Amino acid sequence: MQIDTRITLKKFNLRPAKSLGQNFLTDENILKGIAEAAELTKDEIVLEVGPGLGGLTAELAEAAGMVVAVEIDKRLIPALKENLKGFSNVSIINGDILRLDAENILTTAIAERGDGFTPTALKIVANLPYYITTPVVMKFLESGIKAKAMVFMVQKEVADRMKAKPGGKEFGALSVAVQYYSKPSVVMEVPPQSFIPQPEVDSTVIRLDLYTSPPVDLRDQDLFFRVVKAAFGQRRKTLVNALHNAGCFNMNKEEIKNSLTSIGVHENQRGETLSIEQFAQLSNYIFDKQNEMFPEQK
Ligand code: SAM
Repeated sequence: MQIDTRITLKKFNLRPAKSLGQNFLTDENILKGIAEAAELTKDEIVLEVGPGLGGLTAELAEAAGMVVAVEIDKRLIPALKENLKGFSNVSIINGDILRLDAENILTTAIAERGDGFTPTALKIVANLPYYITTPVVMKFLESGIKAKAMVFMVQKEVADRMKAKPGGKEFGALSVAVQYYSKPSVVMEVPPQSFIPQPEVDSTVIRLDLYTSPPVDLRDQDLFFRVVKAAFGQRRKTLVNALHNAGCFNMNKEEIKNSLTSIGVHENQRGETLSIEQFAQLSNYIFDKQNEMFPEQK
């Protein structure tokens, strides 16, 4: 079902809000391509962030058993409802995805539907508002929500960082976090001309397949992410200095140097050269050292 963005904007007297990242996707092939990339079935449920005028929502609703769509801009809700009135499997929620409990809204929406629909899997799909890409993606990854896959349209540079391998300048804390929780793969590149209004950047659709168990063994996940954050916090510093300056590992420079040597990393290497496995080894080593020093905190 095709939704005409220009006609809808005119009919409802709407002006896209730049501050809310409102770039509506108008290219039918890309809308279909995103839904196809999610590989939806009728027994699955989709959580969509920012349905806008409903172009992507319609494609998702055709393929999935149910779509729960969270839109922050209440001005868009009447247009969204009108455009999607042909679908009985769409639930529209006016709210801020960063403030809502996703599991809770899904459970409520399923209960309100009232026909005993029991989804076999959850997928999260969105043409994301770019001003909050990282917080939204991190919220879902860290929340432990049981999604099978996530398909997101993001700014091309963000997709590059999500899938980056160690050694390049794109590899950073976001790459480690995304690749710790999921396996990313690029679905397609999308030019600005596919949107109204056109964004100033190129876009990429990326699919994240969530791991059921993490790809590395960690003694302490929090510590792992603190090490990653410290390593990338001062990118131009060597790892020894970056970790030492972070001042949160109860270790002096010599001990930090030893911890790096013990996992085969040279003290002058920078954070971006370490693989996720090496970050895991390093944080496990630091964990063991901290427990030797402060066994009572175990
Ligand atoms: N899905 C539509 C499409 O593909 O044409 C619109 C995508 S547009 C890039 C992003 C949408 O996210 C906008 O409708 C915007 O109002 C909405 N949005 C922005 N911030 C949000 C938030 N915190 N929670 C939920 N929706 C948000």
